[in-house]
Amino acid sequence: MDFEAVTKFIQKTFQTETFLPLHEPRFIGNEKAYLNECIDSTFVSSVGAFVDRFESDFAAYVGSRYAVATVNGTAALHIALLLADVQQDDEVITQPLTFIATANAISYIGAHPVFVDVDKETMGLSPDALQIFLEAHCKVSDARCINTTSGKIIKACVPMHTFGHPCRIDEIKALCDQWHIALVEDAAESLGSTYKNRHTGTFGALGAFSFNGNKIITSGGGGVIVTDDEDLAKRAKHISTTAKIPHKWEYVHDEIGYNYRLPNLNAALLCAQLENLDRFLEDKRMLASIYEPFFSSASITFVKEPQSSRSNYWLQTLILNDKEEQEAFLSYTNDHGVMTRPIWRLMNKLEMFKKCQCGDLSNALWLEDRVVNIPSGVRL
Ligand SMILES: *Cc1c(COP(=O)(O)O)cnc(C)c1O
Repeated sequence: MDFEAVTKFIQKTFQTETFLPLHEPRFIGNEKAYLNECIDSTFVSSVGAFVDRFESDFAAYVGSRYAVATVNGTAALHIALLLADVQQDDEVITQPLTFIATANAISYIGAHPVFVDVDKETMGLSPDALQIFLEAHCKVSDARCINTTSGKIIKACVPMHTFGHPCRIDEIKALCDQWHIALVEDAAESLGSTYKNRHTGTFGALGAFSFNGNKIITSGGGGVIVTDDEDLAKRAKHISTTAKIPHKWEYVHDEIGYNYRLPNLNAALLCAQLENLDRFLEDKRMLASIYEPFFSSASITFVKEPQSSRSNYWLQTLILNDKEEQEAFLSYTNDHGVMTRPIWRLMNKLEMFKKCQCGDLSNALWLEDRVVNIPSGVRL
């Protein structure tokens, strides 16, 4: 590969020869106005008009009945898993190719991740691999899925829509239903992405999104849980706000809760960011449409949105030939002011998760050695 030509093309696309980050937030709307409103009102903490407004705006945007805002995406996943009744020593199926937050949230409960392979095309959990794993290792008994290898209950399954590209979520949902496993979607990276015209994160009982600084919209830190179930929404709000029973003055809490509520300041930023989301999405599609013909003419695989889906193209992705090329590419581009990153080290290779059960992980291993992300920010 001609690293120099690729680097020059990326710089030309962003019209810059100075340092080019992988992704940057864009504050081009009402962010400052809403922050000022928030400060003037003195409601900067976790009670405030912007939190309520953001929750209803967000639910409307993704087409779910309820949204409950949290301090970050990891907290959203943690609460979603608790609401899916994941308990200590249960097992949760997820993909090995994901950001650490997915596996961490499972571990906070004392539950154990079980790693099942991804599809090469979507880089998200593979329904084929899931079916093979379930048939080889699991049985349903008393409407529960038992892993006959470990003897533990598989309570939930957490697929992730990698870099915003939707995985085959309807097939995963059908398998989860058949095997009595709760579906919790890690949609942290896929705000704006739909599968068969339905927003990612809304297929399962619960979905979690993130608004970390590098995500498609950001509030510095933040997250949200979505669900169509009123009881789950109420419980999500209750346990993420210290499980305090509403009362005019008394402090009574009816279980161990979490201080996970999103502050109004962050919600003010998010209300403004959400207003510009469609513009960001348009720009990212445009960027993909510039990258794609360039890389395909250079015989480099540029990842396009999978079938039946519309991707937010959060992080633009290349699949290189092998690990050697991946390393050489990362080293050349980063040395020449163009920030690029490899995909994550597989979860099952990290010290904390080395003992977790795994299915056949051929696709994840193959992608780990080849995938890189290239600059993906919204151009102004
Ligand atoms: C960003 C992200 C999260 C949540 O991260 P926070 O930083 O806690 O908001 C969870 N899962 C995946 C796959 C992510 O990329």
